[in-house]
Amino acid sequence: MIRLTSFLFLILIICTPVTAQTNYPDFKDLYVNDFGSLLSSAQERSIRTKLKELRDKRDIEFTVVTIRRLSDYGHEEPIEPFATELFNAWGVGNAYRNDGVMMLVSRDDRKMRIEVGSGYGSSKNPAMKRIIDRKITPRFKQSEYFEGISDGVDAVVHNLVGEYPGEIDGSFVQKTKGTLSRLFDLLKWALWPLGAAMAGFGFWMYRRWIRFHKRRCPVDSTKMQLLAEHWDDKHLNEGERTEEELKSVDYDVWLCPECEHVTIEAFKAWFSRFSACRACDFKTLEGTTIILSQATTSSTGQKRIDYNCHNCDENYSVTKVIPRVSKSSSSSSGGSSSFGGGSSSGGGASGSW
Ligand SMILES: [Zn+2]
Ligand SMILES: [Zn+2]
Repeated sequence: MIRLTSFLFLILIICTPVTAQTNYPDFKDLYVNDFGSLLSSAQERSIRTKLKELRDKRDIEFTVVTIRRLSDYGHEEPIEPFATELFNAWGVGNAYRNDGVMMLVSRDDRKMRIEVGSGYGSSKNPAMKRIIDRKITPRFKQSEYFEGISDGVDAVVHNLVGEYPGEIDGSFVQKTKGTLSRLFDLLKWALWPLGAAMAGFGFWMYRRWIRFHKRRCPVDSTKMQLLAEHWDDKHLNEGERTEEELKSVDYDVWLCPECEHVTIEAFKAWFSRFSACRACDFKTLEGTTIILSQATTSSTGQKRIDYNCHNCDENYSVTKVIPRVSKSSSSSSGGSSSFGGGSSSGGGASGSW
């Protein structure tokens, strides 16, 4: 026991990374998180408008983050791993295309980075480096943080979609989807029903085999015969005949031609409005629902179900509560409030001023 405990303790020590002190901040906004207080609220709005346009029209997630200093988050290393980890913690960009972008500015460290999603590979690194060196850090040196960020955002957006914010053609969204991903979508929609149909057909075949494969008489092992529907009625009782009439249960009667041994097998219908009667136990009970009062978002409703059995005299009513209508189902039609789950493998470029 002691050995087991110390073993588990050892595992715990090994699994705890030394750099675990870094606490990545949570985002408060999808577009601009000015933790470093570099922007006025009007400047923040201006940048948010550009980034929102990019997301709305081209479905690309680009987020701007400013911080005071890396050490505020327990991070003493270079900005690169922090940017990659923060990018992945937030999940910036589409999870399949991994096309997100994050601009991170650390004010007191005088360091910044444009981190790009893994979908770009290293293809964007030189362009991002150029944008940082020509558009952003020269402005930052003059303490013109808004101008640097804003010009940088313009240049990155232009690099990504070939157009500047404010001029992005909204009708382009469908066309920008790669041919490959469109083909994949098409295949997915074509294959899904095909797969479902094949599975359904297989299951249907299996059910048919279960039901109709040849049986042998338990008495003398002779092959039994399945009686036609109109012949099997005399072997069924009244309740079973009612079930057959209502199609809630189907009965097969197998007869041994040698000794006249009879086997009866019941197959319950998958979809039937009839349920088992509490008095006679046959699946012949029908329920009719009557709404007494509708449920609203503020109060529950009430309904009455009148049951009557088609086989016996059972007849009763049950009153049930209808749960309140939840508000969330109707109010979530606005924009998404989280990132798409994209990741970065460290692509991008850094700069200092
Ligand atoms: Zn027999
Ligand atoms: Zn009954």
